Amino acid sequence: MKHYESISFFEFQRNYSTEDACREKLFKLRWPEGFTCPHCGNTTYYYHSVRHLYQCTECKYQVSVTAGTALHRTKIPLVKWFWAMYLITSDKRGISALELSKKLELRYETAWTMTHKIRKAMHDRDSHYDLLGVIEIDETFIGSPSEGVDKKGRGSEKIPVIVSVSTKDAKMLFAKMQVVESVNKEEIKKIVSTTIPKGETIKTDGLNVYKSLTNQGYKHERIIISGSDMNANELLKWVHIIASNAKSWINGTFHGIDRKHLQSYLDEFCYRLNRRFHENELLDRVITACANSNGITYAELYG
Ligand SMILES: [Zn+2]
Repeated sequence: MKHYESISFFEFQRNYSTEDACREKLFKLRWPEGFTCPHCGNTTYYYHSVRHLYQCTECKYQVSVTAGTALHRTKIPLVKWFWAMYLITSDKRGISALELSKKLELRYETAWTMTHKIRKAMHDRDSHYDLLGVIEIDETFIGSPSEGVDKKGRGSEKIPVIVSVSTKDAKMLFAKMQVVESVNKEEIKKIVSTTIPKGETIKTDGLNVYKSLTNQGYKHERIIISGSDMNANELLKWVHIIASNAKSWINGTFHGIDRKHLQSYLDEFCYRLNRRFHENELLDRVITACANSNGITYAELYG
């Protein structure tokens, strides 16, 4: 297996050891051409060093580097945010909120919320990409702890997830995993129509739920497994590898995830997988993703 090459602790510390260094990075991402007032478009400002606000010299509008991003209204030091992004990206196993809370001296709830905001930014980034070429699609089921199943009040349920992988010359390009209520035609139609442009080729097994893809404007290769010499793992190779890796990752790092939040963890898994050839850029890309994400609201997280 390929060695995971993220940037070193030392390089991270050289770049982001102070609030000023982190703020400067966010400033550059937000205003690559220099400050521009979001209110009037003027390009000159005063910097309030106590409140860390940039005030437009024309209209007096005040803005912070984090306003409207994944870090909107945060009270956590930027250094801790950057550490969180580093720790999430520097190991392909990721990091649990509990581990993060210990390492960064944060309350568990705070660490948990931060990881979800970072994952939302990852999701936003990946949602810009369509799946192209030959796309393998299959369903898988991920075990999740649930309440009220057995007499002790705990059990597990199997959550259906649709795995779609774009491939070219039998090599994997880009993957998406989506949690669904159940595996049915409507869910498949919705996923396919929002992630795959018409005219592309979709490869599935013989399950009925995939039958109407040709009517939706796709080339459809249906693989009937019974009677074939190969098994399902070989016929839809990439979806099976990815589903199996995602399950190992969830069990290894998080020890099971409930239904409500599974999507967010799968977003993190796919984000890292989709950038597997750019590991040394991962931190930079996640900082950029956070600076460009509009964040997640309290209601979306806890509602
Ligand atoms: Zn202004």
